[in-house]
Amino acid sequence: MAQPDPIRIGALHSTSGTMALAETSLRDVLLMEVARVNTAGGLLGRQIEVVALNPASDWMAYRDMAHSLIHQHQAAALFGCWTSVSRKSVLPVVEDGDCLLYYPMQYEGEEQSRNIFYFGATPNQQAIPAMEYMMSPAAGAFSRFFFLGTDYVYPHTTNRVLKSFLDAAGLAADKFPEHYVPFGHSDWSAEIAALRAFHAQGRGVIISTLNGESNLSFYKALRQAGFPPGELPVMAFSVSEAELQALEPEDVAGHYACWGYFMSYASPANAEFIAAWRAYAQDQRPIYQPMESTAIGFRMWCQAVTDAGTTATRAVRQFMYGQSAAALCGGRYTMGVNHHVDMRVFIGRATNDRQFEVVWESPRAIPGDPWAAATIIADTRAANAQRDLLEALPTPLIVLDIHGEARYRSASTHKYFGSTIGAASLTAIREVARVLENEHAGGETGHLHEITIRNPRGQTHCMTVASRRIVFGGDDAHILSLADVTHIRRIEEELREANEQLQHLATIDPLTGVSNRRHFFAQAMEEWQRMRRHRRPAAMFMLDLDHFKLVNDRHGHDAGDKLLVEAASRVRQLLRGHDQFGRLGGEEFAGLLPETDITAAFAVAQRVRESIAAIRLKLGEDAANVTCSIGITAIVPDVDTPESALKRADAALYQAKEAGRDRVLIG
Ligand code: GH3
Ligand code: MG
Ligand code: MG
Repeated sequence: MAQPDPIRIGALHSTSGTMALAETSLRDVLLMEVARVNTAGGLLGRQIEVVALNPASDWMAYRDMAHSLIHQHQAAALFGCWTSVSRKSVLPVVEDGDCLLYYPMQYEGEEQSRNIFYFGATPNQQAIPAMEYMMSPAAGAFSRFFFLGTDYVYPHTTNRVLKSFLDAAGLAADKFPEHYVPFGHSDWSAEIAALRAFHAQGRGVIISTLNGESNLSFYKALRQAGFPPGELPVMAFSVSEAELQALEPEDVAGHYACWGYFMSYASPANAEFIAAWRAYAQDQRPIYQPMESTAIGFRMWCQAVTDAGTTATRAVRQFMYGQSAAALCGGRYTMGVNHHVDMRVFIGRATNDRQFEVVWESPRAIPGDPWAAATIIADTRAANAQRDLLEALPTPLIVLDIHGEARYRSASTHKYFGSTIGAASLTAIREVARVLENEHAGGETGHLHEITIRNPRGQTHCMTVASRRIVFGGDDAHILSLADVTHIRRIEEELREANEQLQHLATIDPLTGVSNRRHFFAQAMEEWQRMRRHRRPAAMFMLDLDHFKLVNDRHGHDAGDKLLVEAASRVRQLLRGHDQFGRLGGEEFAGLLPETDITAAFAVAQRVRESIAAIRLKLGEDAANVTCSIGITAIVPDVDTPESALKRADAALYQAKEAGRDRVLIG
């Protein structure tokens, strides 16, 4: 019986040139996997034949050879490519020829061809978790970065993404150095000088996207320069166990890499794979991530072909979506409808035995997202624009996140809070934000609240605070706008005091301190209204000092003043709190006694008269004294007004004067 035709697949790996060190094992692991399937009976009952071409690290050769594999060799699928330039040169060829490329490398994202299945990490599966790890306390909480890469698309794009990521994390990424070197670069004197300047400023991380053989001389130059890995570690995205084989272990020990696979990872699946590789390769070549990705890609392709019952691109593509395969380090790789795999991520630190020890692993598989980088960049741009806008406003502004942490403060708040907001002020601000939030759950501008804070120079400020909900950097937050009202509050206080003073001056006779004429009549009017409502008795009196002109003439005007003051004071003391008493002018006074009948009023008036007559104002040898005359009258509710009553009291006073003074008469 004739054997059915074999299924042909194409392999595109450079086994010469600068990429040979990296790519040769990818071809070999593919051949190993194919041999395993063929031994087990092949695929759809057919053997698999690999047409392996060597593009010799020439990017355009990848394009031409892909064309030849599809059109001359009738390859059912292609496996290979490493650098993004090689993949980008093959992309139009697989799209035109409607063939599938199984791509095994981590890359920069921002690509999603329906003719490529991507098995390497996108930035959110490698570069960003690596950065987060180096910024974590476990790695030393690094906050300074030196970007060093080979001059091609992957390093440039990855660094752009990482810088946006740092911007979003609040570390101004502009200030971090970024250096690119050509493929095969080996004279590191300029870069070491730049690193020396960087290291002189403090600890930091070298984010390395160096690719290929350059890594060998770079780590050596770095160690010879004497930087301790603890202070200037390298986090590399293209250094695997393959490079560790060629490097002197002491050159690279202590430096980091981030991958979805590490050869040192202890698991049954990994042990079995390593044993199979040793048996197949018959040498000590290491296994590294893109080799696992090559094997996983090939296994998924076989499963999809089996499921589809054909190698036709259209059918295989449909069965690739959701296809999954066991990962060598536990868990599974699953192909998403976006042509990128979900995968776990590991951070490894190079040891002295040419391996990485795993120092961190992601708790679960992270979905591949070729556009995560674009999203981060867009978000960061929006957040930066928002900050620029807030910074342009003169108002002091503070943004609190939902946990009450200050996420942003405008430069104008420094005057009030210094470079870090003190605990007391932060508590006051959070409390106001909470109260405003409760008062105005809708999120509209709330009422103003006022807080008092002490600035770093010890001065206090009254600040009004208004709060509004906003989305800040993509998260819910509160923006608090503050206004310094210290000056206004001080003016208000001064005005209040001045008003009180004016009020006092307007009602008080300045010489004697009793009510002035205007205030006495105003008070008397009020008392009279009350009296009429309650139909209570009351009395009115008028008092005039006797022969006061003579007192002045004899003792002088100042002595007269003192007598006036003393007389007024004595009257005030004899009256009750709610009795009204005022100076009508000159040496003439009036009083209104509520709830007092004429008999009681007469008795009060007599005591007043006696008290004044008893005054002895000492003037050296001499002593001044004075008497007074008083006219009193009962106020008749419903009939009298204060004026009419006062008129009668005045008439009685006049009679008292006529009758010889120093007496009280009822009118
Ligand atoms: P009579 O017994 O008739 O009331 O005589 P008199 O001198 O008190 O009356 P007259 O109305 O003629 O004079 C009032 C005097 O009171 C005139 C003025 O010198 C004096 N006098 C008025 N106001 C003041 C004041 O504020 N201080 C002093 N020292 N004297 C005043
Ligand atoms: Mg008088
Ligand atoms: Mg008088």
